[in-house]
Amino acid sequence: MPHKDLAVAVAQTDVKGDRSQGPTTQEHPDYYVRVVEERPDGIVVRGAKIHTSVSTNSDEVIVLPTRAMRGEDKAYAVAFALPINTPGLKLIASPHGSAPKDPYEHPISARHKMMETLTVFDDVFVPNDRIFLNGEIEFAGLLALTFVRYHRFTAVSYKLPLLELMAGAGYAIAEANGVIRAAHVRDKLTHLAAYHSTVRGLIEHAAAACTIEEGYAVPNTLLTNVAKYHFAHNYHHAVQIVQDLAGGILVTAPAAEDMTSEATRDYVLKYLGGAKGFDADKRLRLLNLIGDLTASDFGGYQEVLAVHAEGGFEAEKLQAYREYDFKTVAAYAHKLAGV
Ligand SMILES: Cc1cc2nc3c(=O)[nH]c(=O)nc-3n(C[C@H](O)[C@H](O)[C@H](O)COP(=O)(O)OP(=O)(O)OC[C@H]3O[C@@H](n4cnc5c(N)ncnc54)[C@H](O)[C@@H]3O)c2cc1C
Repeated sequence: MPHKDLAVAVAQTDVKGDRSQGPTTQEHPDYYVRVVEERPDGIVVRGAKIHTSVSTNSDEVIVLPTRAMRGEDKAYAVAFALPINTPGLKLIASPHGSAPKDPYEHPISARHKMMETLTVFDDVFVPNDRIFLNGEIEFAGLLALTFVRYHRFTAVSYKLPLLELMAGAGYAIAEANGVIRAAHVRDKLTHLAAYHSTVRGLIEHAAAACTIEEGYAVPNTLLTNVAKYHFAHNYHHAVQIVQDLAGGILVTAPAAEDMTSEATRDYVLKYLGGAKGFDADKRLRLLNLIGDLTASDFGGYQEVLAVHAEGGFEAEKLQAYREYDFKTVAAYAHKLAGV
């Protein structure tokens, strides 16, 4: 049935095989998606993309090259869009975090789950009017980077609620544990506040410092990549702080059933209370939220997401290095040094 809420997934990351090799020098030629047949009405593609988020919820998938291509990589310089149910297009879904969960123990991940797939193109036909790039190697890198310029900007923007939640959960559990006035706690909470505010400041500045290119606003690439760098390099430390403030009960708390069982409920309510105003139920709810965020399969997923998704550490570093005006600052240093 036609509907107006179309969803799209982007399959850019190839499976890549041996990372030290390009597409044509791999053990087999299908580690990067490539064109295997040209027909008058379209092309046939083969290969596989990996980590494709929300493909199982999408109407269409957009396929882009993952890197710049060299002369010999012509068949791999390919980009197109297809309906997700196109014959030969296979979605092999990751089971990560998909086990059923109790909403009391896992208040976020019992309800929310993003799914990734190994996205296989088993000789898939792409009609001509669905092709964006076919063999124009000089545009492969440009297309890959143009997507990334926007994607990395959204990557940081959608992390802000997560960082807000880390600071909020850290403060709330410090109150519930009765340690909110301790000097080390204020120090740690200040770190969370500074982390969130710095990432927010950088990404808002990236938007404000955008350039208008052919009528489209492009977020500032240097600031976007520095924002992503700062977010990704500090996420695990933020997790550590929130875990520290919460206490070891993050991984040793009783189960949801213990709150309802006659045999256990009174013990849990009596012994797991915290500071004034925080009975055991309130404190456990906060702990379960933090456990879900930082010490569950969902928490692990968030950590890997921080390191790798929307381009890994080295990708954002490379972009930041390229965009930063080292020549000008070096000239400044030369001038002051009298060189
Ligand atoms: C949860 C999640 C969701 C994602 N969603 C999407 C999505 O929707 N669409 C999409 O297209 N992609 C998606 N990605 C992919 C993401 O962009 C990649 O994970 C990222 O680009 C890193 O690639 P990789 O995972 O293949 O790691 P690898 O490339 O295997 O990296 C492993 C290590 O090898 C190093 N390395 C790799 N190549 C070289 C080299 N040539 N020389 C030296 N060192 C090298 C890396 O720096 C890293 O240290 C997602 C990833 C995650 C984790």
